[in-house]
Amino acid sequence: MDDGFAVRRKNGIPFYACLAIEKIPGFRHGFATRALNLGYMHWDSPERVAANRKRFLAALNLDQAGLATLHQIHSDRIHIIKDVADQWNQADGDALVTRIENCALAIQTADCLPILLADPQNKISAAVHSGWKGTLARILQKTIEAMKREFGSDPAQIVVAIGPGIRSCCFEVGKEVADLFKKEFAGFLVKPIYERPGKFLVDLPKALELQLECAGIRPENSHDIVACTRCNPNEFFSYRAEGQSSGRMMAIIGFAADAR
Ligand SMILES: [Zn+2]
Repeated sequence: MDDGFAVRRKNGIPFYACLAIEKIPGFRHGFATRALNLGYMHWDSPERVAANRKRFLAALNLDQAGLATLHQIHSDRIHIIKDVADQWNQADGDALVTRIENCALAIQTADCLPILLADPQNKISAAVHSGWKGTLARILQKTIEAMKREFGSDPAQIVVAIGPGIRSCCFEVGKEVADLFKKEFAGFLVKPIYERPGKFLVDLPKALELQLECAGIRPENSHDIVACTRCNPNEFFSYRAEGQSSGRMMAIIGFAADAR
């Protein structure tokens, strides 16, 4: 794990925090582990998932906040929340941006990469779901552009945290997907697996890094936890390791000015 992150534990619930975001007054955030299933899966009871979500929000000091989630569709669709959080729940899309206080933006993952962003100047939060399709569609870069356009965010001030997800050690694809990445980004993101002709490993976090660079994020403000979900199934949910029965983790960020 990168030393820009630390495990926090509150009320018995472990989660990862990005030290740079933690330092900004008012922002509360965290990347959950598999200690709690936070997705409405067929094998888990809705009551328990709702209770888990409440516990996680409380652990982040966001228990007063409304929880904004999405019906994630691996797109580049970004929702700007200008009103109460609840009305956005289950809207189709993969990124959330808001300036509203006490609005917890949540992304659910089990291999896809969750990214949390904070603009300290304008008190803007954003959360992005970036699997391979979203990464290819540059949803992270587009979210930063939306922060700029909607709220006047200065990319040089935005702090970014990339959470646990599947990495170049494990993200295996066929030639078709590999070619799409080579075309959209650079060849060095894609490595052939010599023992398995026609199979390739793609470096999704590197593709995110390239987007951050294009968007004008300063390298010193970009933090990657460097933890692979597929390599660490005891700590994280991994769709590729567990299949359909995998649970979902959440990455959450929100702003609440009141003192802790
Ligand atoms: Zn791995």
